[in-house]
Amino acid sequence: MFIDPHIHVSSRTTDDYEAMQRAGIRAIIEPAFWLGQPRTKVGSFQDYFNSLVGWERFRASQFGIKHYCTIGLNSKEANNEALAEEVMELLPLYVGKEGVVAVGEIGYDDQTKAEDKYYRLQLDLAKEVDLPVMIHTPHRDKKRGTIKSMDVSEEHGLDPSMVVVDHNNEETVREVLDRGYWAAFTIYPHTKMGSERMVEIIRQYGAERIIVDSAADWGISDPLAVPKTAKLMKEKGIEDELIHLACYQNALTAYGQSGQMKESDWLNAEPIDQRKKLSGNTVLRGGQSPKVEGDSSSDIIEN
Ligand SMILES: [Zn+2]
Repeated sequence: MFIDPHIHVSSRTTDDYEAMQRAGIRAIIEPAFWLGQPRTKVGSFQDYFNSLVGWERFRASQFGIKHYCTIGLNSKEANNEALAEEVMELLPLYVGKEGVVAVGEIGYDDQTKAEDKYYRLQLDLAKEVDLPVMIHTPHRDKKRGTIKSMDVSEEHGLDPSMVVVDHNNEETVREVLDRGYWAAFTIYPHTKMGSERMVEIIRQYGAERIIVDSAADWGISDPLAVPKTAKLMKEKGIEDELIHLACYQNALTAYGQSGQMKESDWLNAEPIDQRKKLSGNTVLRGGQSPKVEGDSSSDIIEN
């Protein structure tokens, strides 16, 4: 069993969901993020948050995957301050909803003043509602941005055990672990931070507080990055216990602190029943046979 604790499944296909389920992924976390182009109205955020706690959660369930999400204002869009103010008013309405396991992904992109302002406000929100935080560290000037993210989090009184610092690399991991944070790694295909390097990190640091994710989205990315990395770890002789920690248990322990994510959620999940609908809508298209687990007469068609 695997957990992918950072994947933007709204941008992925049903083929991806089926492949993820076959590969052993049982639970996923979809962080609120930006969509490739800036939103212009607060209503676009509202509808997006609604789909994270509503339709996408249902869609995942139709393929046997438990879906959780994080809610937050991403760092890129924090730079539109007028809109950011309106989004900040929305967030308290969503952070308490079922399946929301953290405030995130928040942090720095270009490390501007506006990003800093909304990062701080959202740290205060997370503290107030006692939710973990998922930090997106910047791709440019990563080391400085990562250290600053932790400094500011501590300034706001957050306990590092409630904070997952994501998108680490060899330059940041040591300090993130030493300071008591969860250190997540995003495995991007065709880049420096691939599975091979992840194996070396586990070899060097072990797996305590280390988390592997795919961050798969609308860009070139791999929704199977977690199971593929686990397979490579196994081939390279990493102990099963370490693989289990990095590709399953640590994510559950970290985000389980929200009180919203328990192993029993997927161990005792209802069987897949694609005859189900959400507000009258289904994942099936005209004439397709629904998959119904544990039902031998599973070609009942309902449109
Ligand atoms: Zn992301």
